[in-house]
Amino acid sequence: MRTQVAIIGAGPAGLLLGQLLHNRGIDNVILERQTGDYVLSRVRAGVIEQVTMDLLDEAGVGGRMHADGLVHEGVQICVDGVRHRISFKEMTGKTVMVYGQTEITKDLMDGRAAVGAPTVYAAQDVALHDIFSSKPRVTYRAEGKAEEIECDFIAGCDGFHGVSRKSVPPAAIATHERVYPLGWLGILSDTPPVSEELIYVRHPLGFALCSMRSPTRSRYYIQCSLAEDIESWPDDRFWEELKPRLDDEARERLVTGPSIEKSIAPLRSFVAEPMRFGRLFLAGDAAHIVPPTGAKGLNLAASDVRYLSRALVEHYAEKSDAGLDHYSERALARVWKAERFSWWMTTLMHKISDNSFDQKIQLAELDYLFRSKAAATVFAENYVGLPY
Ligand SMILES: Cc1cc2nc3c(=O)[nH]c(=O)nc-3n(C[C@H](O)[C@H](O)[C@H](O)COP(=O)(O)OP(=O)(O)OC[C@H]3O[C@@H](n4cnc5c(N)ncnc54)[C@H](O)[C@@H]3O)c2cc1C
Repeated sequence: MRTQVAIIGAGPAGLLLGQLLHNRGIDNVILERQTGDYVLSRVRAGVIEQVTMDLLDEAGVGGRMHADGLVHEGVQICVDGVRHRISFKEMTGKTVMVYGQTEITKDLMDGRAAVGAPTVYAAQDVALHDIFSSKPRVTYRAEGKAEEIECDFIAGCDGFHGVSRKSVPPAAIATHERVYPLGWLGILSDTPPVSEELIYVRHPLGFALCSMRSPTRSRYYIQCSLAEDIESWPDDRFWEELKPRLDDEARERLVTGPSIEKSIAPLRSFVAEPMRFGRLFLAGDAAHIVPPTGAKGLNLAASDVRYLSRALVEHYAEKSDAGLDHYSERALARVWKAERFSWWMTTLMHKISDNSFDQKIQLAELDYLFRSKAAATVFAENYVGLPY
């Protein structure tokens, strides 16, 4: 098989890139290790920036997002039982959209199926070859048969545990990492959200987040230790841990119910540099991970895809490689700012140590955030997404 761009991974980065390239007449094949149903069952991101909305529109799949997504003009932050609000709209004129990653993935999958672009699900043993030559190849097994794709470029959109980053010679790549000693235990439930806006909770018992997917579906998280076993968290135990972290009004309004999904996500900051190796380009979680506190992971995947899709269009339509040559530098400039914000928000909101000095610093910083318009503007600018 021959294609122009072989895309590894059918998460949001791979599917979005595939759709944008297809719309500009660039052939691409997506290889995905899992089945389509499995990819759709992963409950992850929920808050998307304007950049991601714009790209979904450009890809021609934004209709359902505009109809069903919830526009949020601000966010609430609860500190030791007292709630404060920061208005994005007032500070920046911008808003964010609450629309689940599962729905985005479904819209992109449907869009791809509608135009008949090829995706190979359940592709096994995907391997990258000759990435530093002008004729890279990808081999894999599908339905027991060995297959090979020749291509001009490979887009490694296969997430943190994918094969693309691991195919790079160790001497060519530098990695930077911080692993936090905690995770998020999250549940999804068909209950009305406790508030119309997200509530980020800082509490001596640990962090919590009250989020949602729709007016009838809620997503809640509590900080947990990495040693926790999901089996030892029946729903009742989760609700009993969440309640004392909330303010009185939220506690009274909280509607509990059976979970329809429950999982533990470790918190990690990670960046691999550069993001280009010959004809291989990394995008999304394959190149960088942020702790979910700042709601940046999916949005960073989308901004990488924006830079990469434009660079590939420039290569084919204008015979210019300027965009490809600058891809890594441009993408990383935005990545590091989102890494900083996600790290800052994580250390601000979680119980990371028992050190009373660290806790007092958190409280001082939060107090400053609520009293200073400059500090609130910095927060809002970063949360809604920095400009290009
Ligand atoms: C609990 C939680 C909450 C989050 N909340 C937010 C939020 O509110 N906002 C936000 O922006 N982000 C959030 N994120 C982060 C977001 O989910 C990720 O950043 C996003 O999924 C990255 O997309 P991606 O396409 O780069 O990678 P992925 O979604 O990981 O997709 C990679 C794909 O590649 C496939 N793959 C892997 N290995 C191979 C292989 N060898 N061969 C072929 N295919 C392979 C995988 O199966 C997968 O389908 C959250 C994450 C978590 C865990």
